[in-house]
Amino acid sequence: MPVIKGAQVAEAMGEEIIKRAEALKNNGIEPCLAIIRVGEDGSQLSYQKGAVKRMDKNGIACRICAFDEGISQADFEKEFSKINNDSTVHGILILQPLPKSLSIEPIKAMINPLKDVDAISPMNMYKILANDKTGFAPCTAEGVIEILDWMGMDLTGKKCKVIGRSMIVGKPLALLLLARNATVTVCHTRTKELAKEASEADILIAAAGSAKMVKADFVKEGMTVIDVGINVDENGKLCGDVDFENVEPIVENITPVPGGTGAVTTSVLAKHVVKAAEMLNN
Ligand code: NDP
Repeated sequence: MPVIKGAQVAEAMGEEIIKRAEALKNNGIEPCLAIIRVGEDGSQLSYQKGAVKRMDKNGIACRICAFDEGISQADFEKEFSKINNDSTVHGILILQPLPKSLSIEPIKAMINPLKDVDAISPMNMYKILANDKTGFAPCTAEGVIEILDWMGMDLTGKKCKVIGRSMIVGKPLALLLLARNATVTVCHTRTKELAKEASEADILIAAAGSAKMVKADFVKEGMTVIDVGINVDENGKLCGDVDFENVEPIVENITPVPGGTGAVTTSVLAKHVVKAAEMLNN
């Protein structure tokens, strides 16, 4: 059954992003993303690498603002303020989680909502609720919509089941699907008869962070399955939330891990930086 590769979607998205970045540059504005990292966490470094590569491909400048793990909250906020107020920076991404000694909460209140390209500020959360297009949604959540759009899927009236209710993926994704007139169910660890519930979906999105939990009995013929999970399996190999080997033969469409939603997440980030640069300069 068709395996939807994230790279295809990212490539298609890139065409428009590059055009918009070019238009900005022709007006003397170089769209720029600042990536804030504290410490040397391996998965954050790997996400940073992917993001830098994607920005480069899409004609967007990237500035890495790396801080020592020992930085105090006061100094971190001071440094953050400088980046936040720098008119040559249009989008800000803070790699999370921050070390335990730092709190992200004051930063959520400080960040200019127009530069908040991964939607951590209360203003952008509100805008997702209100379906206000001037806001930003978390990149991974919006990436799922981009994949479904790329597939040409009309979501109106479709039964969409989301496994996971985090602030960064599950909840915002549910709202984005609702804005497209889907009938949305959000599942979590307390959901009863999860496999049966999931199997009634037209579109099933797994964002649980639990390796291969979506088994063959969660799915049916004709279903589209989007796997957001990034996990490591019993052999130390990267895998999603979906038991791909047993699910793929049954369903209509499926995204793999690796090679699925991850690439689209960074493309959404690039799209957001361009949108931020446009809004900040209008
Ligand atoms: P969280 O741990 O914050 O949330 C997980 C959610 O899934 C919770 O709501 C939890 O339910 C639910 N859940 C966990 N296990 C089960 C289960 N066995 N059955 C039903 N529900 C379950 O994770 P995130 O939302 O931050 O991330 C989810 C996954 O997506 C992770 O694998 C993460 O690595 C990946 N990710 C991928 C990105 C990408 O670019 N592709 C970016 C961001 C994240 P409850 O609320 O009841 O605890």
